[in-house]
Amino acid sequence: MREALPAAIQNSELFALYQPQVSVNGRCIVAVEALLRWDRPGVGVVLPAHFLPYAEDNDLIDPIGTFMLERACRDAAHWGGIRVAINVSQKQFARPELADFICTIALAHGVNLRDLEIEVTETAVFPHFAEAVAQLKILRARGVTISLDDLGSGNATKDLMASLPLDRVKLGKEVVELCTTTFGKARLADLIGAAHLLGLGVTAEGIETKIEFDILRDLGCDQMQGFFFSQPMPAGELLAFIAQSDAKWRA
Ligand code: C2E
Ligand code: MG
Ligand code: MG
Repeated sequence: MREALPAAIQNSELFALYQPQVSVNGRCIVAVEALLRWDRPGVGVVLPAHFLPYAEDNDLIDPIGTFMLERACRDAAHWGGIRVAINVSQKQFARPELADFICTIALAHGVNLRDLEIEVTETAVFPHFAEAVAQLKILRARGVTISLDDLGSGNATKDLMASLPLDRVKLGKEVVELCTTTFGKARLADLIGAAHLLGLGVTAEGIETKIEFDILRDLGCDQMQGFFFSQPMPAGELLAFIAQSDAKWRA
């Protein structure tokens, strides 16, 4: 990693895939999440879980985060009206002007700030909590959608929901996949109820089956994302996929 990851950034081996997020009522694709990949020579495509922790610990998250922001904004400029969600990690909040930096890149690529979403996790905001809240407030005031990612996996979930400037929460796969059990359904109803009380939208992540879709819809999720709808795909395939799925759902 020590040599290969900096070289990957230099040699354009990193790329983005996009996974659609579906509006449950509108039955159409309203957003996509940008997901990082590394095409490592001699190895193949490497998932972020295998190299992001190393990048976080070795001061490589800044160049990688900037790459993803620019890549996703450049791609999103062609989609008009489809929101693009970008994951921001802990170390990026160490940059005091993060909000300005994100907005400047989006606007430079012609992306309306209303078409930009920033996803943060509990672990991303905790180490620099006050700074993170301040930066998220600025982003939100400028029209960027703010989501709390992987809900259900942490301890301080409901406190965080109430204390962060949020528009939406994303239920993580770990909690979504328990939806067929009594315990899981109760936990989901509890989290979704709290989100609704706070006026937040709720996205269910990791939806793989029609059964999960039906249960999470009945529990009140307004958006969903998962292999049931689509795998993450290259930017070039997205518009055709959207046209095809919208036509299918309208039929
Ligand atoms: P995440 O933000 O929660 O992203 C969702 C992850 O769930 C993605 O994994 C996606 O491929 C996967 N997924 C989506 N639908 C399904 C499903 O139906 N079933 C299953 N089993 N998995 C599903 P991926 O792409 O491996 O990303 C893992 C994590 O890496 C992300 O979790 C996010 O925390 C982080 N990540 C990805 N891209 C970036 C990035 O550009 N910057 C930062 N800071 N983190 C990123
Ligand atoms: Mg995410
Ligand atoms: Mg997630």
